[in-house]
Order: sequence, then structure tokens, then C-alpha cells
Amino acid sequence: MEHTFIMIKPDGVQRGLVGEIIGRFEKKGFSLKGLKLLTVDQAFAEKHYADLSAKPFFNGLVEYIISGPVVAMVWEGKNVVTTGRKIIGATNPAESAPGTIRGDFAIDIGRNVIHGSDAVESAKKEIALWFPEGVANWSSSLHPWIYE
Ligand code: ADP
Ligand code: MG
Repeated sequence: MEHTFIMIKPDGVQRGLVGEIIGRFEKKGFSLKGLKLLTVDQAFAEKHYADLSAKPFFNGLVEYIISGPVVAMVWEGKNVVTTGRKIIGATNPAESAPGTIRGDFAIDIGRNVIHGSDAVESAKKEIALWFPEGVANWSSSLHPWIYE
């Protein structure tokens, strides 16, 4: 089964959107495999966003991510990377469709509430970075009602 890394950013935590966001992934049928609330430091945030280090918004992005606690999660399911990105919506909330998390809860690109891995390979790297201790090994008893 495929895994993805999902992070509720500091604005999402401060605004009380944790339950709403987890609920959307749960109700879709995906399985929660890892979950923790933590505040990361600058070096860690720079590592997570290393691919964007040349972007003009990089320093502001790192400041944003370290500004408060985040909720780090691993979700499992068929096509969860791509479908997770659809649930999240476009990077810029101005272009995210209503019904997506960013479309429903965000306005500015620099305060877009949530992160999701963009590919299976980056998901593996991000899960290894955020969950070096590993994730839970369990299988939902609902699987036969979700997968044919
Ligand atoms: P996504 O989070 O949708 O994968 P990117 O990987 O391109 O988007 O960018 C990572 C994060 O950087 C975005 O979620 C957003 O918080 C921030 N970001 C991207 N583009 C901009 C921008 N033009 N100005 C400010 N912040 C940005
Ligand atoms: Mg990205």
C-alpha cells in the first residue's frame, strides 16, 4: 500500500483545523499510520524544503513552518499521494477549488494550512525525515468495505 506524508502547518493548528483535516482523510477511507504534534527548528525546516532553497520565498516559508507546532502524519491507501494532493487542493488557495482543504480554509499562498508529498519518492524521503522512529503497523478492519 502507498504512503504519503501530510503536515498541518502552524496556521492550521492555531486555527483549530486539526480535527477537520484529519476527518477528511479518515472519511475518504485512508488509514492513519503516524501522528505527532511537534515544533521543528530552522535546520529541520530547511531540510524538509531543501528543493525550494533557491526560491525567493524560501526564508519566509521556513519562518512560517517553525513559527508554531505542526501536526505530522503518515496516511496509507491506494493512490494516497495523488489523491491526498487533490484533497489538499492547489498550492495557491486563490486557485484551489472549493471542497479542497486549501479552497475551503485558506486565502494566501504563504498561509495555506497544509503540506502533502508531491510524489511517491518524495513521500518516502519525507516520511524518513519526519518519522525516523517508524510508523504504526496496523490494518484497518474496514478495508473490505473500502477496497474491492
Ligand atoms: P505545495 O505545498 O503545494 O507542494 P510547493 O512545494 O511549490 O507547493 O511550495 C511549498 C510551500 O511553499 C507552499 O505550500 C507554500 O506554503 C509556499 N509557497 C509556494 N509558493 C509560494 C509563493 N509564491 N509565495 C509564498 N509562499 C509560497
Ligand atoms: Mg511541494
